[in-house]
Amino acid sequence: MTSNLCGMSSWSEGGGTVATSILESYLGGRWVAGSGTGVEVLDAVTGDPVTRVSSEGLDLGAAVDHARRVGGPALRELTFHERATALKAAARALDARKAELYELSARSGATRPDAQVDVDGGIGTAFVYASLARKGLPDGTVVLEDDPVPLGRGGTFAGRHVLTTPRGLALQVNAFNFPVWGMLEKLAPALLAGVPTIVKPATPTAYVATHAVRILEAAGVLPPGALQLVAGGVPGLLDLLGGPDHIGFTGSADTAARLRSDPAVTLRSARFNVEADSLNCSVLGPDAVPGEPEFDLFVEQLVTEMTVKAGQKCTAIRRALVPAEVIDDVQAAVAAALDRVVVGAPGVDGVTMGALVGLDQRTDVRHAVGRLAAAGRIVAGDPDKVDVVGADDERGAFLSPVLLRIDDVDRPEPHRVEAFGPVSSLLPYRGRAELLDVVARGEGSLAGSVVSADPDFVRAVVLAAAADHGRILALDRGSAAESTGHGNAVAHLVHGGPGRAGGGEELGGLRAVHAHLRRTAVQGSPGVLASLA
Ligand code: NAP
Repeated sequence: MTSNLCGMSSWSEGGGTVATSILESYLGGRWVAGSGTGVEVLDAVTGDPVTRVSSEGLDLGAAVDHARRVGGPALRELTFHERATALKAAARALDARKAELYELSARSGATRPDAQVDVDGGIGTAFVYASLARKGLPDGTVVLEDDPVPLGRGGTFAGRHVLTTPRGLALQVNAFNFPVWGMLEKLAPALLAGVPTIVKPATPTAYVATHAVRILEAAGVLPPGALQLVAGGVPGLLDLLGGPDHIGFTGSADTAARLRSDPAVTLRSARFNVEADSLNCSVLGPDAVPGEPEFDLFVEQLVTEMTVKAGQKCTAIRRALVPAEVIDDVQAAVAAALDRVVVGAPGVDGVTMGALVGLDQRTDVRHAVGRLAAAGRIVAGDPDKVDVVGADDERGAFLSPVLLRIDDVDRPEPHRVEAFGPVSSLLPYRGRAELLDVVARGEGSLAGSVVSADPDFVRAVVLAAAADHGRILALDRGSAAESTGHGNAVAHLVHGGPGRAGGGEELGGLRAVHAHLRRTAVQGSPGVLASLA
């Protein structure tokens, strides 16, 4: 491995790359570079150029055609179990070379634990899906969803539902924060369903996603046309999508709204799944006073969510709701823990939090903190000042973790403004009714948590908040050791959320595979229905 572009040129089996050349896309089974100057991507830590991203001049129509004519038929020839075998081999190939992905991730500001959330999290998700498919899907190409329902008195006519593979493709448009996990969690169910994928990674971390695709291509474990990647914009691509296709989007609500109103969705009914912004809450129970284990668990979890991936997680806790009587104690405990966070270059001794993905992102987060601070005050950290270890605080996109306190919960800002960085707001509640009202003001979230050892309180909060959340974690001293945490999406469980969070659903075990298949009600004689197996 060489030092330029973290060795990307020496890893590029499909073609050379140098630090400021255009990042290649993988289309039609070949590595091809867009033209023009592209968008320059800088190292989040040093500010040095990493690559340029451009899809100018690439034939995206040919890529769609390749998916439809090559990838789709190749995948549809395989059974669910054969696709699971390919998926498992893909996960193994990535696992064997994951150190390369860690190293590239460091250039996006990710510490090793941050990179593991993305890389190992993605690989683990692929392994889980391969296993779920072997256990829960037939070694065939059709899912018979239910038993026949008699539709006549004589028993000669009945109906049932079948799930089959559409002749479409899955376009995934991903956010910058999880270049590997974001790709694999969408690829796994599409691949199992027999649907070829085109990945459009976010520009700031496209070089990490691209390298993962290079590893997969070198391993030769996926059928031809099953996976393509466009580095850069995708102008005109949605014009080619429609009924049989699936668009999986992760990113901001603004971009989601733009894509949702595209005729591919509104006119031609491509399936569209959105994971967007989310003002996730964590609730401290009234029983969890200082000295109780749940108080410490709440504080620890909040600090973890603020600092892992420098808070650039769609599921991170943005609103920490605590009983008014203990808000000073919580504030003091969180501030003390944040004081121990060491911000700096990934890999440097002692560093516990890395950088944001880029200077633009830091500007956005500072702006959002300013809006939140107008509704309350900053009680820990300074958005304009940060002590950095092993790097330059001006060239690198570093930010100190910032805790705000907003005593007036009727202010709209904490329920509307998402600071996509190491930022969270403490809000007091007085009684259960006010708590549940404040929780609902998030208007739909990906993840919520309630930290309490009082089963009655936990039950009331979970049931009242469930309809506003995709996932809720109930945390107490008994489950803490095995808990997967507030912010971690789990392959077996639904990831997504209503309202502001986009209204989508991903993961959730085989539900995500079914979402790529098409359900058809078939009516006929019992013999015909039995023959569909
Ligand atoms: P973004 O600006 O909306 O970009 C998301 C993706 O959309 C990128 O790949 C971007 O490509 C692409 N894109 C932008 N305009 C497009 C267009 N007209 N047509 C097709 N693709 C287009 O979001 P972001 O800044 O990357 O991510 C941060 C936001 O995502 C945060 O608000 C966060 O809450 C949300 N997020 C949500 C989840 C979740 O699971 N719910 C996960 C992570 C992040 P380019 O990069 O090339 O512009």
